[in-house]
Amino acid sequence: MDLLKGKVAIITGGSRGIGEAIAKKFAANGADIAFTYLSSEEKAKAVEDELKALGVRAKAYKSNAALMADTEALVADVVKEFGTVDICVNNAGISKDNLLLRMGEDQWSQVIETNLNSVYNMTKQVIRPMMKARTGSIINMSSIIGIRGNAGQSSYAASKAGIIGFTKSIAAEVGSRNIRCNAIAPGFIETDMTQYLKEGDAAQSYLSRIPLGRFGSPEEVSNVAMFLASDMSSYITGQVICTCGGLNM
Ligand code: NAP
Repeated sequence: MDLLKGKVAIITGGSRGIGEAIAKKFAANGADIAFTYLSSEEKAKAVEDELKALGVRAKAYKSNAALMADTEALVADVVKEFGTVDICVNNAGISKDNLLLRMGEDQWSQVIETNLNSVYNMTKQVIRPMMKARTGSIINMSSIIGIRGNAGQSSYAASKAGIIGFTKSIAAEVGSRNIRCNAIAPGFIETDMTQYLKEGDAAQSYLSRIPLGRFGSPEEVSNVAMFLASDMSSYITGQVICTCGGLNM
């Protein structure tokens, strides 16, 4: 299928996990891809090559989504090289779990800056070209933890809940320009980030809380991103799509 043919997509954190799956899904549907990473240089180069092999233009950028200056330079470069930005997936994220009493200011700030400030930084940059083109789809990666909360994850939950409020506000601000802004709230997805959950003593208890009885795959999240990026969702904005095997019920 060529649902994104002729579109240009930026995906933050595309070197691994969910972002990598989204980059591949979008490329398989005809989109040109600019994606970012922070430290996995080799992995990013390999992903870039795989995307090009799908017949689209692709470029990996080392760019820290938590820094406004980096995102400004990134989006300027993408517009110069690719012509515009039609789709932006704010996916880059980290977790630094700890109970509040033990959580240092550094741990708190790193998570908020990487997960939440990054969404502000990137969105502020991409809405300019999107407003000019009078079209755009912004997809923000929240989490089921941003809706339900979780002991030991106050910083992560706060960042992901913040993304939901931001998403709805931006949807209201730019809807009249034909720019849509939605969020995805994945549950437990099998990536490097959740490896410790699968292996730990608590694995069975996590699984028992998921109606579908299993963790999700990055590919399953990429299907939802694909829907939100394409015109298939042309009348959907300001929404949070839970992709969690029913964990939110
Ligand atoms: P992951 O496998 O750990 O991959 C994280 C990606 O983000 C990597 O590409 C990493 O680049 C990049 N990244 C980290 N910090 C960055 C920064 N400051 N600037 C630019 N890129 C940065 O994580 P994942 O599981 O795929 O998660 C992706 C998103 O989904 C995150 O926002 C996460 O919170 C959210 N999410 C995940 C789950 C889950 O169960 N996995 C559930 C709910 C929500 P490097 O490779 O260079 O480090």
